[in-house]
Amino acid sequence: MAKKPKVLLTANYGPNELGWGEDMFDLAASRLVRGHGPFQITSHMHHAGLYLIAENISNPTTVLEHPHWEEFDAELDKGYDVIGFQLKSVQTAKIARMMKRIREKSPESKIVVGGYGVGTLNNPVPGDKNGDAVYIRENADYLCREEGVRFMRKLLGDDPVDREITQNHLPLCGLTLPGLKTTAMRAPMLLVSLGCPNACDFCNTSAFFHHKKIYVAEPEQTYRYIKRYQKRMGFDEMFVLLFDEDFFLNVDYVNELGRLLRSDKKTWGVRYFTFASARSLSNFTAQELRDNGLGAVWIGVESFQLHNPGSSEAIDDQYNKRKGKQGIKELFEDLHNHEIQTTGSLVLGFDFHTPENMKEDIDRFVELKTISYQISPLTPCPGTALYDRMIEEGRIFDTFRWEDINLWKDDVFELKNFKKGQIKEFFDYAHEKMRDDVGPQPLQVMEVALDSYREVKDKTDELHTFQAERIRYMAMAAASYARAIKKHHQSAKVRERAAMLERRVKKEIRPNPVFAAGIDVASRFIASKIKERVEQPPEPIVSDPPPRWTYYHTFDDRVWVKRGRKPGKPQPYKDAGMLGIGTTIIKFALRI
Ligand code: SF4
Repeated sequence: MAKKPKVLLTANYGPNELGWGEDMFDLAASRLVRGHGPFQITSHMHHAGLYLIAENISNPTTVLEHPHWEEFDAELDKGYDVIGFQLKSVQTAKIARMMKRIREKSPESKIVVGGYGVGTLNNPVPGDKNGDAVYIRENADYLCREEGVRFMRKLLGDDPVDREITQNHLPLCGLTLPGLKTTAMRAPMLLVSLGCPNACDFCNTSAFFHHKKIYVAEPEQTYRYIKRYQKRMGFDEMFVLLFDEDFFLNVDYVNELGRLLRSDKKTWGVRYFTFASARSLSNFTAQELRDNGLGAVWIGVESFQLHNPGSSEAIDDQYNKRKGKQGIKELFEDLHNHEIQTTGSLVLGFDFHTPENMKEDIDRFVELKTISYQISPLTPCPGTALYDRMIEEGRIFDTFRWEDINLWKDDVFELKNFKKGQIKEFFDYAHEKMRDDVGPQPLQVMEVALDSYREVKDKTDELHTFQAERIRYMAMAAASYARAIKKHHQSAKVRERAAMLERRVKKEIRPNPVFAAGIDVASRFIASKIKERVEQPPEPIVSDPPPRWTYYHTFDDRVWVKRGRKPGKPQPYKDAGMLGIGTTIIKFALRI
C-alpha cells in the first residue's frame, strides 16, 4: 500500500507584534479584560483549527505552533509532502515569506492555505507594496475557503470525507489569574459551527462563508465531547467555549444540548460560553438560557446610537441582530440576574459617530458592567461590504498594510468626524472607565452571583438547589480578591464597590466558618501578591509563546507532543487538568 502523504500544519512564525502595547495573541490582556494593571488576567489560546484538522485526517501529521523562523526552517528538512497554513490577514507578509522558503527548500511539497485571511487575498490592501497577497494567491497549490477538515480529507483522498469530525484532542486554552501566576485555569474549546447569517457589513468571518452557517457538531456530539473533556480534566464542573457565531439562532440545538446536560447530574456543573445576538437571545427567557447551560455570552452591542426597542434614536439600523425583545441594558441585567456573565463588544468610529455621541456610547457601555469586553476601532477588512464601500468612497488610505488588520489601528481609512489617532483617545478613555468604574473581574463575578442567588435560593427542586450552591461557592471564591482590591486598587469607587460586595457576601451568602477561614487565608495571599505587582514595575510585554510540536498518527495512535525552545524528545500528550496546580485543593474545597 502506498505511504500516506506526510502533513505539516502551521501558522506564522514569531515573535508576534503588539497591539497598542499589548500582546495581540493574549486575548484577555489585549482585548477582553484589557487595562487592569496589577489586576490583569492573562491568557493563552491555540490555533484550534490546525489541531482539529490534524485529529481528523489519518495522515502522519505535525502541528507546529509558534515557531521562530529558524525552527520553521529546520522543520522543512523533515520532508513534508503537504504543508498547510492558517492565514490571518495580519500575518500575510510572514506567510508569503514562509511559502517562498518552502519553494526553495522543498519544491515538491504541496502548499495549502486556509483561514480567514484567505477571504482577503482577492482585495489586496494598498499598502501591500511587496505583492504578498498576490504571491500567496498565485503560488499556493490550494486555497481553502470552506470547512477545513472536509477540505483536507478530499485533498488527501482520506475517505469517507463526510465521516464524523471528532473533537477529542484539542488543546485547552488557559487563563492566568492576577496574583496567582502558577495557577492557570484551563478551558476546552469546541467548534459547533462556522459562519453567520447576520451579515454585519464589517464582519470578516460572516463574509468568508458568504453569510452561511455550516455545522460541524450536532448536539449529541457536542455533549459527548464535553463529557470526554470532563474525563480528560478530571473535573465535572467546568466552563466550555462553544464556537458558534450566533448560537441561539437554532432553538432546537440549544434545547437539545440543554436537555442532554440536564439528563445526567454529572453534567449539571458544565456551563458554556458562546456568542449570541440580542435578537437570537429573544428566543428564550434568561432562566431557560441558564437551565440550558449558558454561563457566559458575547453580545455585539456595537453602538447605542443604533436602534433600541422603544427608542426613537435610530440613526443607522442595518444591524438587525441587535433587535431583541428587550433594550440592551435590560437584556444584560436580566442575564446577570440569572447567573449569566456577559461580554459586550463596542465599535468606535461609525460614520454617525461624533466625539459627543461616542463618549455617550462608552459611558452607557461601561454601565452594562460586563465581565469582559471588546472595545475596538472600526476597521474595514478586505472582503467585507464595509471595505468595498470605503474603496468606492475613496476613503482607504494608501498606507493601509496587512499588518494593520487588527483591532488596534485608527489610521487606515478616513473617518467622517475624527482625525487619525483620535479614536485611540476614546479607546483609552473607555478602558480607564472600565478599570476605575467597574473594576477587576472578581467584583463582577461576586455581583452576578449575589444578584442571581436571590432569584434561585428559595427554589426547592434538585437542579435549582444545585445551582444555588454553585452560585454560593462562586461568590465566596471571588470574594477572596476583595481584600486586594480594597487595599490596592487605584480607584476609590472600585475600592468602595469591593467593600460593599464583600459585605453582601457575608450577609447574603453567609459562608460556613471553615470556608470563611479558607477565604481569609486565600485573600491575604492574593493581597500580598497584588501588592508586589503594584510595587514592581511590570516587565516589558512581548508576544513570543513557546513553540509546540504535536504529532498525530506519527509514532503510534496516540498524540505526542514536545514544547519549548529547547524541546527534548516528544512525549505522549498528557493533560495537566483544569488547574495548573490546585485541582486537589479546589476539589477538596468544593466538598466542604
Ligand atoms: S453577528 Fe457577529 S458574527 Fe454575525 S455577522 Fe455580525 S459581527 Fe459577524
